[in-house]
Amino acid sequence: MQTTFTAEQLADPHVEESEKILRKCVHCGFCTATCPTYVTLGNELDSPRGRIYLIKDMLENGRPADEQIVTHIDRCLSCLACMTTCPSGVNYMHLVDHARAHIEKTYKRPLADRWLRSLLAFVLPHPARFRAALQLARLGRPFAKLFDGVPTLRPLAAMLRLAPGSVPGRSRNASPATHKAAGARKRRVALLTGCAQAVLDPGINDATISLLTRLGIEVVVPKGEGCCGALVHHMGREEQALASARQNVDAWTREMENGGLDAIVITASGCGTTIKDYGFMLRLDPDHADKAARVSELAKDVTEFLATLELPPPTVKPDLTVAYHSACSMQHGQKITRQPKDLLQKAGFTVKEPREGHLCCGSAGTYNIMQPEISAQLRDRKVKNLAATGAALVATGNIGCITQIASAAVMPVVHTIELLDWAYGGKRPKAIGGV
Ligand code: SF4
Ligand code: SF4
Repeated sequence: MQTTFTAEQLADPHVEESEKILRKCVHCGFCTATCPTYVTLGNELDSPRGRIYLIKDMLENGRPADEQIVTHIDRCLSCLACMTTCPSGVNYMHLVDHARAHIEKTYKRPLADRWLRSLLAFVLPHPARFRAALQLARLGRPFAKLFDGVPTLRPLAAMLRLAPGSVPGRSRNASPATHKAAGARKRRVALLTGCAQAVLDPGINDATISLLTRLGIEVVVPKGEGCCGALVHHMGREEQALASARQNVDAWTREMENGGLDAIVITASGCGTTIKDYGFMLRLDPDHADKAARVSELAKDVTEFLATLELPPPTVKPDLTVAYHSACSMQHGQKITRQPKDLLQKAGFTVKEPREGHLCCGSAGTYNIMQPEISAQLRDRKVKNLAATGAALVATGNIGCITQIASAAVMPVVHTIELLDWAYGGKRPKAIGGV
């Protein structure tokens, strides 16, 4: 694609980067076929190619965002299916991240939208605030139907519906600690305990620590790590996202320099995609660029890390058929497709894959709150495809997908690591009858 940025515009490193991306796009439109919003809405402006044109027009003309571009960029799930499909290697992720930051700086959203976004950015990245909000949401649940009637309050209704019926207790594993390897230590890793996941389902980190330590891995939950920043990054709140990234980079760098780290293990693929991008996000920060690049190299999804280990034979015969849902951030963001399925199969599960596995379930961070109608359509399509596999349960590697799919599915939805932990001597997951 030809571009006409001026030398002055290109002096801005963000514009320079976006220009390189735009020039790679050859308008072929292959990406439209796999874009969930195009598939759902059928509007070219809700396709990757359409959004790329809108972003080009906005950046090239150096103009503030307007309602049209905000509407179509807000509808993008950042699922990155377009990047998997694109034959020209267009980095849509970095382009849309830049567009979102530009929107945040130049566009004044309606009051209700601003209020909701500020609330989500204030609550979600902080486990204590999120836990308190979930308790309140339980009380507010009966009012969800009332809010449905007012378009500006629909996100609030979506939020109330997503809140679990009961909030699990805080796990001891959420606090900074070193969990010793059983027997001789083979490796040492840091575990990102995360923000929303640690509150919604602490059993995921518990299962990870339990399995890794049994396999001879020392697991450190370092002091100072926190939310990865993905939730606010996708809202265009660049400074807040970079502050989270710096805090984590510093925490993990201290750990690398003290005890040494073989990997930074992540159990939510949405977080993994962002942490693997820290090197890019902090490339212009002279104090953090090199450290962030090192962190991104060490970042591994838990299944990616487990696939590098020699596993013993499983200790239970699960005799269960599992539908594996590959989160977008897993398959498109991190290109991890084989390892979770291979691990489940080796552990004794029969693995089925749903039709349209490349399509997003509609969770996408805060998307299921901000865009409840599109999100619900994608969720129902996903749930139907998962149910059609005939499997007894669903396994996936991202808490957002677990919450989204479980809100409509009849079958239980668990994290892949919970099944692996069980198969190799840990507890049976609660969602399938464990205690
Ligand atoms: S990230 Fe997903 S929703 Fe957004 S343009 Fe690409 S395929 Fe479409
Ligand atoms: S597939 Fe790639 S090159 Fe083709 S229109 Fe989409 S982004 Fe552009």
